[in-house]
Parts: sequence; C-alpha cells; structure tokens
Amino acid sequence: MSDLADRSPAHLASSAAAARPVAQPADRERRKTDLMYSALRKVFGFDEFRPGQETLISSILDHRDVVGVLPTGAGKSLCYELPALMLPGLTLVITPLISLMKDQVDGLNKADIPAAFVNSTMSYDEEAQVLAQAAQGRYRILYVAPERLNNPRFLDFACNRVPLMLVAVDEAHCVSQWGQDFRPAYLDIPRFIAQLPRRPIVAAFTATATPKAREDIAERLELRDPAKVMTTFDRPNLTWNVVRSASKADRLEWIVNWALNHADESGIVYCSTRAATEEVSERLQSVGVSARAYHGGMEAQEREETQDDFIADRTRVIVATNAFGMGIDKPDVRWVVHHNAPENIEAYYQEAGRAGRDGQPAQCVLLWMEGDFNTSRHFIETGGNDQLSREELETVRQHRRSLLKAMHAYCMTTQCLRNVIMEYFGEATHGVCGRCSNCADDGSMSSEIVDVTGEARIVCACVAEISRRFDFGFGTGKIVAVLRGSGAADLEKAGLTAVEQFGALSDHSERFIRDVMSQLVSGDYLMSFDGRFPTVGLGPLYRKVRDGAFSLQMKQESAPVRSRGRGSARVRRLGTRGVKGVRGDGVSGDTSGDGVSGGARSGANITAVDAADDIPVDEELFNRLRELRTKLARKQGAPAYTVFKNATLAEFAALKPSSEAEMLDINGVGPKSFEKYGQQFLDVISGGDGEGGGDSDRDSDYTTNDAELNEIDS
Ligand code: ADP
Ligand code: MG
Repeated sequence: MSDLADRSPAHLASSAAAARPVAQPADRERRKTDLMYSALRKVFGFDEFRPGQETLISSILDHRDVVGVLPTGAGKSLCYELPALMLPGLTLVITPLISLMKDQVDGLNKADIPAAFVNSTMSYDEEAQVLAQAAQGRYRILYVAPERLNNPRFLDFACNRVPLMLVAVDEAHCVSQWGQDFRPAYLDIPRFIAQLPRRPIVAAFTATATPKAREDIAERLELRDPAKVMTTFDRPNLTWNVVRSASKADRLEWIVNWALNHADESGIVYCSTRAATEEVSERLQSVGVSARAYHGGMEAQEREETQDDFIADRTRVIVATNAFGMGIDKPDVRWVVHHNAPENIEAYYQEAGRAGRDGQPAQCVLLWMEGDFNTSRHFIETGGNDQLSREELETVRQHRRSLLKAMHAYCMTTQCLRNVIMEYFGEATHGVCGRCSNCADDGSMSSEIVDVTGEARIVCACVAEISRRFDFGFGTGKIVAVLRGSGAADLEKAGLTAVEQFGALSDHSERFIRDVMSQLVSGDYLMSFDGRFPTVGLGPLYRKVRDGAFSLQMKQESAPVRSRGRGSARVRRLGTRGVKGVRGDGVSGDTSGDGVSGGARSGANITAVDAADDIPVDEELFNRLRELRTKLARKQGAPAYTVFKNATLAEFAALKPSSEAEMLDINGVGPKSFEKYGQQFLDVISGGDGEGGGDSDRDSDYTTNDAELNEIDS
C-alpha cells in the first residue's frame, strides 16, 4: 500500500493537513465531513450531497457495510466513487452490465479519477495489463462483472496482489431470486469476499423497491450490521402521464406525433417485444425522426453502436425493449414513453426513471390498452423457471399477478399519479403534484371516466350462469359473443343461446365488453384460467359484485394527440435561479393545452424553475453557450453533457459569471472543468466567441491520500 501514499492530491491534502494534529472523535467527524465536501466540490464539481449520499459515504468511511436503496438517477455511483478516492487501497465495483462499466470508467477518467474495468470483451493480454497496473496502485476503482469473481486469475489478483478496501455491489437486487433481474453469479459474492485476506467494507446499492428484494440483499450478501439508507422515490422533476390508447395504430400515431413534437430532445420508447421496437423505429424514421431500435436480438456490436450514438446525441430516440437501460447514464433524457404497460410498477418506475437524471424537467408517458394486460397475464401463467418446484412456481406466479394488478390500477386510477407511485413504494404523500395527466386539467392527456357498474354486474352474472350450466369454461371471445348476442348459430350449437344474459349487452362494442372483463379480472371479480384453451371463470371477490356498495369505473381512451407540426420553436419561458436542480414542487407544469402536454417541452431543456426567486435566463446567450459546448464536445468525441450540463449552462446564462471565482460558485463547475473549459465559456459570456481560451488536457494529479485516510481509519 505504501506506493499509494505519495500520490496525494494536493487539494485534499491541504485541507487535511490543517486538521491533522487533532484526534478527538468530534474533530475526526468534522474532518471527515470536510474531506467529503472538499472531494465533492473539487473532484465532482457538486455543491451539495443529494439525499442519502452523505450518510452512506460517511458510514463507508467509518468502515461500515451499507445498503443504499436510492431511486434511479439519485446518484448511487457517487456513494462509492467518493469513498474510493478517500480510502486507501482499491475499490472493486461489481456491476451486472458491461455497458455500464465503459460509461462509468469513461466518466471517471474525464474527471481525472483513475479507473478501469476488466471484462469479457477484452483480450487476455489487455486484461493482464489492466490487472498489473491495478496491482501497482494505478487505479482507485476497478469494475468487474460478478462472473469474474470466480476466475482464478482474478481471484489471485484480488487475494494476493492488491489491497481491496471496498467492494461496491451495484444493482444489488440482482442477488434476489424473486426479482426479474436475478443474476446467479451475485450469489457468489460472499464466497469471494470470504476468500480475501482481509474483509473489505461491503456496500450494496439498488434502485428497486420490492420489499422482498430489499430484505434479500443484506442477507444474501452477508452484510455485517449494515447502515441502511432508503430515500424517497419521489422525483419532483418527472411528470407522470397515463394515456389509454384505442388501438395499436392509435398508439403508433401517438408516438409519432410525440416524437415530432420533441424532435430535438433525447427520448426512449420502451416496447415489450422486439418486433414492436422495429416497427415503431421504422415508422419514426419514415417521418424523419432520428430513431433506432435496440433489443437483445441484435448483434452485440450493433447494440453498442446504437447505445453510443444515443449517448453522444447522434441518435435522438431509442426504441427499445427492457434490454436497454440498466446502467446507461445519459442524464439528459427528456422523455420516456412506454408503448405498452409493463408487468409491474417497479419495472415501469425503473424504466421511466431513466428520464431526467439531470434533475431537469422530464416527461414519462405510459400508453396502454387492456390487451397489454392479457398479454402479461398469459406470460405469467405460461412462463416458468425449471429450477422451481410447483409450489414455488405458484408462489412466484401469485406474486407476479398481484404486481400486475397494481400496474393495472395505476393505469386506471383517477388519483394523482405521483402520489400513487409514492404510496406504492410505501411513502407518505403531501398534496397532489398538479402536473400529472390526472391532476392537470388541460385535457391533453386526461381521459374520460365512465361508470360501468351495471355492465360489470351483467358480465359477472353471465359468467356465473355459464359456470353453473357447463362443466367446462369458455374463453373471453365466446362470453363476449353471448353478451352481445352475436354469432347465434355457433352459440346455439354450444348451447350458449339459452344463457339468460344472451344479448344483454348487445348495444356495446366487443372491445368495450372485453375491457370491462379485463378490469373485472384485475379486480379479482373474475379469473382467467390459462390452459391449452384459456377460459374465464369467477374470481374470489365475485360475490362483492352483487353488493349494493359495488361500483366500477373505467377510463375511456384518451383524446388523440394533435401534432403541432415539425420544427416549431419550442423554447418556453426560460427561468432558473442559481440552479441547484429542481426542488420540491418548483417545476412548473406545462398546461398550454395544445394537445401534447409536456413540462419539458423547451427545446433548450432548461426549464427548471424555482418559482420563488427566478432569475431569467438569457436565452440568446444560453444558445451561444450550447453552441460552444457542442463544439468542445465534438472536438473531444464526447457527449455534450460531459462538458457542462444544461443546468450549469442555464445558470451561466442567468447569472453571467465574469471571473473564475464566480464561475466556480456555480453548481456543476469544479476546478477541473473550469481549467478545461471555463475560460472559453467566460469569453462567450462576456460577448466573445469562445475561441480564446485554452483547452488543456493536463494529466491527472488526482489520486488518493493515504495519510489522511489512515487518520480516518484510526
Ligand atoms: P444512479 O446510479 O443512482 O441511477 P447515478 O449515480 O448514475 O445515479 O447519478 C445520476 C446523475 O446524478 C449523474 O449524472 C451524477 O453525476 C449526478 N449526481 C450524483 N450526485 C450528485 C450530486 N451530489 N449533485 C449533483 N449531481 C449529482
Ligand atoms: Mg447506477
């Protein structure tokens, strides 16, 4: 370890030196906090910790195991990146996806934090080289996939060649067999740790909130008395929308219009099938939207290219299955549209949550049809897992059914959508958001609610009578036909015309009756039995339907969206104050009622506002700053946000800093980024063209400071 000691970063060392002679616990705490903030500002360029980060980092620095449950975009990476800099030895990050490693390592290296990864895409020699350099103390952070932990060469490296101080387990819910992301190799992590000569601190992070998975993490990773931190699932900068589609064609058109209206923003469309991703992306391309499909059936190389193009803003819209996203840190995704309802709210929240990681306003839209739920039900009833016994399989199915029901309830609810999500994750709510498609009353996405109590009773009576009369069940199609009194010849043969409810709903469409039935299934009033011939029977709550208190409401299709044409100027009121991200309910909604609601409609994406003390953004200046940023980013072959984020540019354009000190005061600017780009931005702010300043690419002088940490250690 001694070879690490002389690599002290000057800026951390100086603050530590001032505090060094003291050894009181309170002083030690204070010194630790000072060092944490110092690294936060100087290395990462952030002013404040986000909720949960400080406690987690502080616990890790006290050598305590931790579990951090923080929603997507909350900043989990920082919780191990920062300690990795402050602790002696190497931090090992275990993460499930190779794409994640590359992005994170690129990002860290940009901030001059020495990091590397080893994974299966590398040749034997490349891997050997990285490990050799890591053994020499060249890196602070090393990323690996869990499968690597069983590799003998890696094991030798970890046990004999490097002091491992911290093992960070990212996406830790992958350890849970109950979750959909279960990754068996995660179960080997404790065994790996047990083989190390000295037990490292183990820190687990996840965004998933399934209570069962949460419990599993600490247990299965064999954490020792971990500090547990769970932060709110509220994402104030996201606006939640639910739109019921009338047909497949309708939702395709909806997506086309949406994409045209948001052409200069990055967005993701999630589809449940590969075929749908192809169809939607082709349609988007045909109207000139820069869109690409992404799914597990594509070649690895093509997938990687697609992803890189998206991150570098060469592709605007990704149309993907759920194979896309985990670990893709593109902070400025302005919208996520779901082409169909996913199977549960966790999955939905995880995917939709990829919007607006930068804290700026972003839209999440869920398009759905009843048919989506039939498809999911089918998958639940027919999907299996060879490793489970019959009983276990039934338990898993039961679990999935109840999650699906909650998803359906989310689609159908007339309550504030943000509150529904928070309540789902067990959080208290305060007031309504005022912006979601249920709260906003601009009519653009809201749906008509109809009472279908009477129809529901008739449907249930019909199913009840059929099950009385026959020893076997009938499928939805037959039951609907009975209720509508259609196809009599066929039904007569089957003896179904004698059912009392024959023709009782003859003035309703087939789809309407199917919808009512689907909703009854969701509510447990009816049940669908999936066999070789799927049938519908009575559910456990069937009797309730006959209660006087029973009532059933249904959301009708939302009004079709109107296109506002392409390329129209979409910069809304731009406002910001010293942009500290979006706070509380400070995001102003967009209720312009033009057919496409969207708080994040600004072409410039900088509409985060804290209404309390607005400082107007100089829009013209903002655009010039963006141009400079684009130029610098191109020069480096890096995505624009790695230069400065939109929020930072917005703050430049509002506060117009005129000196280094003023610029460093702005969130998102650290000494490193100032050194690289500050002068050129100052130049543009003062009316120049930004060509003057240097674009220095100085080598890193940032590595850890052993001495300090030994103190923290003590
Ligand atoms: P998660 O892994 O929790 O989904 P990330 O670690 O990828 O989230 O962080 C999301 C974004 O938040 C990143 O762009 C990161 O730079 C930013 N971020 C993290 N911590 C802070 C902070 N304290 N202040 C401002 N931005 C932050
Ligand atoms: Mg992450």
